[in-house]
Amino acid sequence: MINLRLPRTEAFARLEALSRERILILDGAMGTQIQSLGLSEEDYTGCGGGCACHIHSDKPQKGNNDLLILTQPEAIEEIHLRYARAGADIVETNTFSSTTIAQADYGMEDKVFELNREGARLARRAMDRAEAEDGRARFVAGAVGPTNRTASISPDVNDPGYRAVTFDDLRRAYGEQVRGLIAGGSDLILIETIFDTLNAKAAIFACFEAFAEHGARLPVMISGTITDASGRTLSGQTPTAFWYSVQHAQPFTVGLNCALGAAAMRPHLAELSAVADTRICAYPNAGLPNAFGQYDEGPEDTARQVADFAREGLVNVVGGCCGTTPEHIRAIAEAVRPFAPRKIPA
Ligand SMILES: [Zn+2]
Repeated sequence: MINLRLPRTEAFARLEALSRERILILDGAMGTQIQSLGLSEEDYTGCGGGCACHIHSDKPQKGNNDLLILTQPEAIEEIHLRYARAGADIVETNTFSSTTIAQADYGMEDKVFELNREGARLARRAMDRAEAEDGRARFVAGAVGPTNRTASISPDVNDPGYRAVTFDDLRRAYGEQVRGLIAGGSDLILIETIFDTLNAKAAIFACFEAFAEHGARLPVMISGTITDASGRTLSGQTPTAFWYSVQHAQPFTVGLNCALGAAAMRPHLAELSAVADTRICAYPNAGLPNAFGQYDEGPEDTARQVADFAREGLVNVVGGCCGTTPEHIRAIAEAVRPFAPRKIPA
């Protein structure tokens, strides 16, 4: 049940008030920062070879970035802190793939609740440190990724009716994730990089089930991703159709992230901004990836384009996705400072 009458959390009210004053800043990419650490399999599992650690799986863990919450917590806390110092008001937990569905690839399904709770806790610790340094309020957004399966499209071209995952599978998996994120002290829930609206609807449903148990409603941010040149999500929706599919949840923000750089995202953002009666959030990649899958756009380049969004009155929250660094976030925060947040249409 989507019960919009649940009392709102205290952070919800503070975020609403802040968002009337200025454009809020979200952090940048976690993956790029982790990559630069050059971690080995032993670093990922947290055992220096043959120790009796608590991570048990037959599968290799290198690349399981979420697991670093448990095995390299200081490194992850430090990345959150760097983003907060660069000017982020809101940082995302390192939990993009912390569902039983996504962790099945690594045989880590039984660690999911702990990943989310500890992921939120260590982001909160970093935010407390940043607040102590400069006195500015910081917020933790529990990050919920799309999983690697889609509920609306068959992965088998010979069997269009087949589904690798159902709405209920997703609702249960997201439910465990969101409960962990709330238990760890998340201030918001961010459902991001949505390519399948049905997956997102399952996540929204799971959020409200968890809010009902929690006895309070957290602000929810919903962020889709445009995956083709015609401006549609993978499940075929335009930004306008996407908004009408999620509007019932009265999200704190709706917006777009990933897939495109800022320039290519602009028309889709403008479309969303014209129809959505809530805040708009945009966090593009640092341009388009080059032939090696790396992002070349420098902090000033990305910041100039994101500042154009702000100048045109299109955005309330901005940040960065793939390829962005603390330097990008610092440049973005400075570039949008002169501009007022977008006015929410009545
Ligand atoms: Zn991205």
